[in-house]
Amino acid sequence: MIIQEHVPLADKNWFETGGSARYFCQPKNGQEFKQALEFATLHALSVFVLGSGANIVISDDGFDGLIIHPQCLDLFVHAENTALLTAGAGVTMNNLIEYTLSHNLTGLEVFSNIPGTVGGSVYINLHYFEYFLSHFLVSAHVINTTTYEIEKVDLAWFNFGYDQSTLMNKQYYLVDATFKLSPSTDTEVAYARGRRFEIIRHRVSRYPKAKTCGSFFRNFHDDEVTLLWEGKKMKFVAFYLDKIGVKGTEHVGGAWVSSQHANMLVNKENATSHDIITLARRLQEKVQKEFGIVPQPECIFLGFKEYPLL
Ligand SMILES: Cc1cc2nc3c(=O)[nH]c(=O)nc-3n(C[C@H](O)[C@H](O)[C@H](O)COP(=O)(O)OP(=O)(O)OC[C@H]3O[C@@H](n4cnc5c(N)ncnc54)[C@H](O)[C@@H]3O)c2cc1C
Repeated sequence: MIIQEHVPLADKNWFETGGSARYFCQPKNGQEFKQALEFATLHALSVFVLGSGANIVISDDGFDGLIIHPQCLDLFVHAENTALLTAGAGVTMNNLIEYTLSHNLTGLEVFSNIPGTVGGSVYINLHYFEYFLSHFLVSAHVINTTTYEIEKVDLAWFNFGYDQSTLMNKQYYLVDATFKLSPSTDTEVAYARGRRFEIIRHRVSRYPKAKTCGSFFRNFHDDEVTLLWEGKKMKFVAFYLDKIGVKGTEHVGGAWVSSQHANMLVNKENATSHDIITLARRLQEKVQKEFGIVPQPECIFLGFKEYPLL
């Protein structure tokens, strides 16, 4: 496996901003993943595993360590149980969904049009309305960053929640994941494709589709909010961002709050990561001033010397 040096990262993340990686590699399997970790240990480098960069802001100064960009692209239905399918960490969700439907397996199409790889999606427990990727995952292979051993783990191991998984402790990286799906007739697959089409249509009309990381802030937890709306605690961060009137108007340099969705920031005019972060911080301050609560990011930061937000 080749380890490259000084590799630009702006074309490897959805905001299309940020500097370069000191080292960069693309392991194709667990063995190469292990080699990458050994290289990092040998040279005392920090490691960051980058999927498709759909949920990330990379510092304009880049990352002074090793970026591992998994290209583990295995994709197969289990011969002994055709409801089970294994996908490598580098497979995109879009390719995964197309593969499932072409093999008469349904379920994952609810995540249509959400960018990302299997690795990044398991990390965050990908979600769309009431659906979570954890509803489908049954087991996985992860690499232990201390022993470099590849371990088979089950659903419980992940301790999944909303924007929550064991992978967030950075002691393990995902190599592949196995999902249990519904074996379906051709007619059922045709309905699933219709649903996929409808979800894509709905998402394209509601959300920006480029130069963004999707939702920038996560929704609030129950104990973080007091405001009641129709008898329930208002947890949706977009509600508060909408109320402060920033949609389509607030910007810093080329970074704008999307005119389609108040919780989505967009690189409209050659923004830097510094612009994006300054804008995000301004939104935090405005919500804090108006409602006394501080939105916290869903988006992940890479390469910043200090935590850049409140
Ligand atoms: C337009 C748009 C719409 C979006 N809509 C949604 C949505 O509806 N629902 C939703 O949940 N998300 C949404 N997102 C966010 C994003 O799609 C998800 O977070 C996605 O899972 C990110 O995957 P990725 O491969 O790009 O991960 P990256 O952004 O590259 O990385 C995200 C995190 O995952 C970690 N990671 C990546 N691969 C591995 C691995 N193999 N092992 C361990 N850790 C790993 C990284 O280290 C990082 O911490 C949206 C993003 C965009 C741009």
